[in-house]
Amino acid sequence: MKNIINKIKFILMDVEGTTTSIDFVHDTLFPYAYDKMESFIKANPELVSGLDNPTATLKQWIKEDKKEPLLKTIQGHIWKEGYESGELKGHLYDDVPAAFKRWKQDGLGLGIYSSGSVLAQKLLFTYSKFGDQDQLIEANFDTKIGHKREKQSYTNILNDLNLSGDEVLFLSDISEELAAASESGMHVIQLIRKDPVNSPFDQIRSFDEI
Ligand SMILES: [Mg+2]
Repeated sequence: MKNIINKIKFILMDVEGTTTSIDFVHDTLFPYAYDKMESFIKANPELVSGLDNPTATLKQWIKEDKKEPLLKTIQGHIWKEGYESGELKGHLYDDVPAAFKRWKQDGLGLGIYSSGSVLAQKLLFTYSKFGDQDQLIEANFDTKIGHKREKQSYTNILNDLNLSGDEVLFLSDISEELAAASESGMHVIQLIRKDPVNSPFDQIRSFDEI
């Protein structure tokens, strides 16, 4: 893997299943927003004006994992309060902070590309269980730049970063995302944080291996 690091300038990372346990999102963040929904809406009714039965509707959307922009916005506000009060701490795998430090010392840029909103990304890394890691991250992308399984999204990110594909390494657990990034010219490595998967990509279990 070391020979890849010598060639690249920037490491772009997925979050769920890569820097962070998928369980954190499903077992901590989503239930937290669900439980706080009613009190949050009572305190901030202006955010949901025009929506019938807002608490029940938004809770139902969480259950159905709906990609409604309003839900994402409200969840973002609830998580922000939770992180700021110290009730929530962003989960990162143990190898992540040391790798961030090492890569920064090597002069690399770091970025995040996740289907979670940029706000949610910044909160998770700012209030991580290892303290503020967000200050080491210089670029955040969410699905506003495009969907994660489409080549064009990665081309858009390269344009935004003003880098060529072979200057960027993308890390993700999902084969379809790696395939799309690879088509854009990026180097890719697959994270196997849990169960093994069959894929044509180089695989690692920890950032320590890069
Ligand atoms: Mg993932």
